[in-house]
Amino acid sequence: DSLISLSGVTKRYQSGGQPAVDRIHLEVAPGEAVAVMGPSGSGKSTLLNLIAGLDRPTSGTVTVAGQRIDTLSETAVARFRRQRIGMIFQFFNLLDDLTVADNVLLPAQLTGIRRARALARLDELLAALRIERHRDAYPARLSGGERQRVAIARALVNRPALLLADEPTGALDTATGEQIGELLLDLNRSGQTMILVTHNPGLAARYASRTVQLIDGRVASDTLTGAQL
Ligand code: ADP
Ligand code: ADP
Repeated sequence: DSLISLSGVTKRYQSGGQPAVDRIHLEVAPGEAVAVMGPSGSGKSTLLNLIAGLDRPTSGTVTVAGQRIDTLSETAVARFRRQRIGMIFQFFNLLDDLTVADNVLLPAQLTGIRRARALARLDELLAALRIERHRDAYPARLSGGERQRVAIARALVNRPALLLADEPTGALDTATGEQIGELLLDLNRSGQTMILVTHNPGLAARYASRTVQLIDGRVASDTLTGAQL
């Protein structure tokens, strides 16, 4: 069974305009790490936003973890996203006035997970990501690579079925980007399904099991890569 299923998905921002995503069919199985590549404006972010339920398709259906999300209410889709989807971004999107621990705990608080359980999960994630010593620090004190580790911990705190990453190494130097890539690969090896939007062919080749290339909102190619070969 697919974890993600897009069927005939089209997204037009302006009626009558060029679709940003054009009749896409895409099935992602549990455990896959899919890199989405393509030129600027080819629809990568739109595709990610449709899968996250941040955007609604103009036509077609989007199913994630067995749930049709294109027909859910705003409230229901927000709840679904908090419980089932973790997201990381190029510029980390951490809250500067919260400590590392409080940033990571936030999605757990929003879903009402018991405090003791959330704290145990926090410890486990900070250890796995090797940022325990920054637990009580504020994000501004951390390096880019450390901030992205905090963002990854936050994305994983609710054990999401799906991790979505939008240019996760785009703001990092090469060596730090490779460390984040290795972390994502380890996560995928332990079973985490992920979609990774990237401009970086090296990242796709080394850390994804499959690469989907978009051109003008359509899937131009879909091939096995890196980790899979
Ligand atoms: P990519 O992530 O590959 O750069 P995007 O999904 O951001 O591509 O954009 C695909 C197309 O949709 C582009 O032509 C872009 O200008 C357009 N687009 C993206 N977001 C919006 C929006 N909020 N309103 C109008 N047009 C948009
Ligand atoms: P909003 O509803 O305004 O988008 P939320 O209250 O859902 O924001 O989330 C608060 C903060 O937690 C935001 O900074 C958001 O980026 C982050 N966040 C929420 N859900 C997730 C998630 N599943 N993965 C990673 N960060 C999340």
